[in-house]
Amino acid sequence: MGQNISIAIHGGAGTILRSNMTPELQAQYEAGLGQALQAGYAILESGGSSVDAVQAAVMHLEDFQLFNAGKGAVFNNRGKHEMDASIMDGRTLAAGAVCGVGNVRNPVQLARAVMDQSEHVLLAGAGAEEFARQMELPFEADSYFFTQQRYDQWQQALLEDKVQLDHSDKKFGTVGAAALDMAGNLAAATSTGGMTNKKFGRVGDSPIPGAGTYANNATCAISCTGHGELFIRSVVAYDISCLMEYKGLSLQEACNIVVHDKLVRIGGEGGLVAVDYSGNICMPFNSEGMYRASKRNAGEAVIKIYKD
Ligand code: ASP
Repeated sequence: MGQNISIAIHGGAGTILRSNMTPELQAQYEAGLGQALQAGYAILESGGSSVDAVQAAVMHLEDFQLFNAGKGAVFNNRGKHEMDASIMDGRTLAAGAVCGVGNVRNPVQLARAVMDQSEHVLLAGAGAEEFARQMELPFEADSYFFTQQRYDQWQQALLEDKVQLDHSDKKFGTVGAAALDMAGNLAAATSTGGMTNKKFGRVGDSPIPGAGTYANNATCAISCTGHGELFIRSVVAYDISCLMEYKGLSLQEACNIVVHDKLVRIGGEGGLVAVDYSGNICMPFNSEGMYRASKRNAGEAVIKIYKD
C-alpha cells in the first residue's frame, strides 16, 4: 500500500470527429485537459489527498468553457443552466452530490461541502443552492455560464424539438476525475450541465453515486461520461467495482465487460476514467472519442481525444 500516485481525467465522450476539429481548437482542448491534470497531480505529488486532487482537477475543467460543466454548461429547455455534480471518498465511502443547481460557480465544490459539512448525500435544486449560500460558496450571474456555442446548440435542439447530448454531433461534455494518493486512498468526482434542452428536472448519472461516480479503496475510483439514462440503468461505476470485488477481475477486465459489452447491448454510448488501488489506469469508451488525460507516478502525461 502507498507511494504509487495516479490520476485520470475526462472532458466527455461522444462522436468527436476530426472533420469538425481545427488544430487551434484541438490545442485548446489539450491545454485545458493538461492544466486540469497538472492541478490534480500536483496535489498528489506533494502528498495531498485524492479527494482534494479530483476536486481541484474538476474545478479546473468546470472553469474551462469548452467543456459542459460550470462555465460552458449546456442550456435546458427553459434557457437555464441546471448542473449536477458528485464526489466520493474511497477510504470511507462518503459521498456528496448536487443536482439541478443554478448559478453555483463550481458545483463539485458544493458536492464536496455536502459530503463534508452536511448529514446528507444528495441535495437538489433550491435547497442545494441555499446550502451553497450558507457555505458561502461563489455564485455567478447567468452571463458567466453563457457561451455562444451552447446557445446555438440549444436553439437548434428547440427547432428540432429534441433533447440533445451536448453537441450537434453527439458529444457528452461532462467532466470528471479519478485518483489514487500516496496513502493508498482512492477518490472520484464528476460534474456536468447534463443534456441540451433537457426538461422536467431531468437528472443524469453524474450526481448518482454508483452510476456516474464511485470510489472504494478495495477496488477502484471511477468517473463516467455518456448517455446518463443508460448509465443509471446499468449502475456503471458500481458494476465495475463489483466485478473486481466479487469476481476478482482486474480493472481492465471489468471495464471491458461493462463499457464494451453490457453498455453496448443496451445502446449506452459513452466512457469513463478509472484508477484502481494499485494505481492502474483505464480510460475505456465505446464512442468515437473521449477527451481524456492521465498521469501515473513520475511518468509522462497522456492527453488524448480520439481512439488513437
Ligand atoms: N452523463 C451526462 C448526463 O447524462 C452527460 C455527459 O456525460 O456529458 O447528464
